[in-house]
Amino acid sequence: MSGIFERLDRKKAKDLKVLGDFIAVYCREHHREEPKAPFIIKDERLLKALGDRNPELCRDCSRLLKHGTAKLLLCPYDPKPTCRKCETHCYAPGYRERIREVMRFSGPYMVKHGRLDLILHYLK
Ligand SMILES: [Zn+2]
Repeated sequence: MSGIFERLDRKKAKDLKVLGDFIAVYCREHHREEPKAPFIIKDERLLKALGDRNPELCRDCSRLLKHGTAKLLLCPYDPKPTCRKCETHCYAPGYRERIREVMRFSGPYMVKHGRLDLILHYLK
């Protein structure tokens, strides 16, 4: 497990931030009633990539973020392509549909709320 964080380069750190922010927005807007807990990140580099905070997520969204983080760190491509342009479907079934749903919602949401900086990160 120790080597996995060595793969966290700048591009991946950026993507991770977007992933975390997108899931956090989605969870906040869709799972208002669900009990939430801070997403605990033990690795400092990873925490830094997520903007030095632990997003409050429901249990399902925590799992999704965990899955996404692992997949991102394990991405075999160097440099990592934009996920939506990638031909490898690395997300497990179930997670794949959920992350698509999150992206579909949170992308336009961020634009509407003036978070264009995040979208640009994502599209790069
Ligand atoms: Zn949620």
